[in-house]
Amino acid sequence: MNDDLVAHATRELVLANRILAREDVIDDFGHVSLRHPTNPDRYLLSRSRSPVAVTSDDIMEFELDGTPVDQRGRRVYSERAIHGTIYMARPDVRAVIHHHARAIIPFTVTKLVLKPVFHMGSVMGATVPVWDSQDEFGDTNMLVDDLPRGHSLARALGPHRSVLLARHGACNVGHNLRAAVFTAVYMKDNAAMVLASLPHGPVSYLTPGETEKTAAMLLSDMPLARAWDYWLTRANFAGL
Ligand code: MN
Repeated sequence: MNDDLVAHATRELVLANRILAREDVIDDFGHVSLRHPTNPDRYLLSRSRSPVAVTSDDIMEFELDGTPVDQRGRRVYSERAIHGTIYMARPDVRAVIHHHARAIIPFTVTKLVLKPVFHMGSVMGATVPVWDSQDEFGDTNMLVDDLPRGHSLARALGPHRSVLLARHGACNVGHNLRAAVFTAVYMKDNAAMVLASLPHGPVSYLTPGETEKTAAMLLSDMPLARAWDYWLTRANFAGL
């Protein structure tokens, strides 16, 4: 039973890697993790490789402090601290995505605030905090590659579903894997639509109330299943 659950989680995580690559959320870098299905003190994450190429054999198990359970010489992502520290801080979170989707970068380098501008963008949340490593750590290599930086980022995320990393990228979390993928894909699309709208005059954003009600609807099982089916087909995994 335990093995079945792990095998299923592993397969879903491989599909999430491929989907996020196909949808241009992650590219040669970026990663997605899933809390272990039976041990909440561990998570599943690929070995260090481009998500577009991840297979079941690449999926590894980690302690929340980032220690690989059975490394077997495999190289691991240096930014895995992002995942474990968020799982420590947020018992409600079952999946974490870190990416550098280009459309969100303008919101990490200007005072422009990222807010939902169309109904699908509501999933990222009414508030998307910005974490700047300069505030606590000064000049760094910009990577969240140790636990202190991970904890700092997790504090900035707080109770939200998304957080921006100044001059770097973003993280999205979900109560399950599909919700996290949905949030990442539509935050990226929402960012592109804000940028497309701004030159044409004052932008009308969703109200906080609209955001909350719409996100609750979209992050329920039926819309998540519909979107997952679409993404699988686009990623050439239909019927799996
Ligand atoms: Mn990064």
